[in-house]
Amino acid sequence: MSREFDCVIVGAGLAGATLAVGLDTLGLSVATVDARSRTPAAPGRDVRGLALAPSSQRLLATLGLWSTLAPHTTALKTIVITDRGQFGSTRLCAADVGVPALGHVCPADQLLGRLDAALTTLPGCTAYWQSTVGDIVAGPDAVTLTVSDGQAQTAVSARLLIAADGLHSAVRRHFDIAATSRDYGQTAIVANADVERPVPDTAFERFTREGPLAVLPIGGARVVIVRAARTDEATGLMRLSDEAFLHDVRQRFGGRLGRFSALGERRSHPLILNRAQALHAPRTVLIGNAANTIHPNGAQGLNLGLRDVATLLDCVQMALARGEDPASTAVLEGYARRRRPDHDRTARFSDGLARVFGLDLGPVNVARGAALLACDLLPPLKRALMWRLMGLRGETNRWLRAPQA
Ligand SMILES: Cc1cc2nc3c(=O)[nH]c(=O)nc-3n(C[C@H](O)[C@H](O)[C@H](O)COP(=O)(O)OP(=O)(O)OC[C@H]3O[C@@H](n4cnc5c(N)ncnc54)[C@H](O)[C@@H]3O)c2cc1C
Repeated sequence: MSREFDCVIVGAGLAGATLAVGLDTLGLSVATVDARSRTPAAPGRDVRGLALAPSSQRLLATLGLWSTLAPHTTALKTIVITDRGQFGSTRLCAADVGVPALGHVCPADQLLGRLDAALTTLPGCTAYWQSTVGDIVAGPDAVTLTVSDGQAQTAVSARLLIAADGLHSAVRRHFDIAATSRDYGQTAIVANADVERPVPDTAFERFTREGPLAVLPIGGARVVIVRAARTDEATGLMRLSDEAFLHDVRQRFGGRLGRFSALGERRSHPLILNRAQALHAPRTVLIGNAANTIHPNGAQGLNLGLRDVATLLDCVQMALARGEDPASTAVLEGYARRRRPDHDRTARFSDGLARVFGLDLGPVNVARGAALLACDLLPPLKRALMWRLMGLRGETNRWLRAPQA
């Protein structure tokens, strides 16, 4: 059997599925291929709370996904950053840059559930679940892939192939695109819990020698804990009783939110930096984690991937308006040129945090404390940091211009 589409996206995770919705709004036919199953209502599969920057919110609003998601999100009006055992701290407030919120925390399951539903109902989308890709042949006019669900094989061809298949991207490897990689030797353990004294609309990021500890609000007294630990330590932390795990968190976090209780399921995520050396191959383009997987300490990975989506949509839309092939080398080079500076800045930022805040050396500790203090005392520095986290500075992309809902 064979099928033809305008675009085929390998990987229907958060970035790939969002792109599929966008390409559908451009009137294009899209196939998505993902190894996972469609799980419309699978609460607890992914217990993360994703801090979505205003740039991501605007893209989701443009695509008509934000209005139903908004009631499940929590505005982030303040972010408190501290360094355990040091004097410095900084407090980022939405009011300081004149915006209603620095971002919103969205349960990952809520976002993925809505995207999965969209892929199944949108007229232009065809989703191949529990499927992987075998042969890939890029010809002069189209790319042809063999899609297999373990029983049947389908030959799928499209003008444009998008690699959105994450860290270990098979598409990236197929085209021999090299990647630079660094294992941080850390694992993030994520779980939900209640706190005794919630601080509304406030997230906390606390840097410790073993890795950062983040506490994000997800409504009422419920929070998402992200406890990064050295990987050799993480196995032990996963095995602790709920009480012992919460005791460890409380010890590291301090008493600011009172007692932690009602711990949900724990999930672990190894932390790796991986950056593709090229963003395109014949008729093929890389987005999201397939292009850049970064440390989650700055909560920037998905926000970066969704800006890939917005830029690619812009490039494809402009090419179509000019009557050009949206997968021509010139169009894909244009995408890569536009994305590289943001990729470099954002990866440097999160990698820098991981390096500087992961060192336990006397003079570095002092410098780190001083840097946080300086950031707190120097409003222009602080505002620059906030604009970066919001992902909007200098952004002219029309897909990111929707009014905030
Ligand atoms: C602990 C933690 C917390 C985070 N918090 C934040 C945050 O607050 N804010 C933020 O912006 N980012 C955050 N991130 C980063 C964010 O999760 C990622 O950037 C985002 O998930 C990347 O999405 P993606 O769709 O590119 O890749 P993935 O989410 O990795 O999706 C890839 C998809 O491809 C599929 N796939 C893989 N291989 C194949 C194959 N061979 N064939 C078919 N399908 C395949 C997979 O099944 C999957 O569905 C966090 C990350 C971690 C680890």
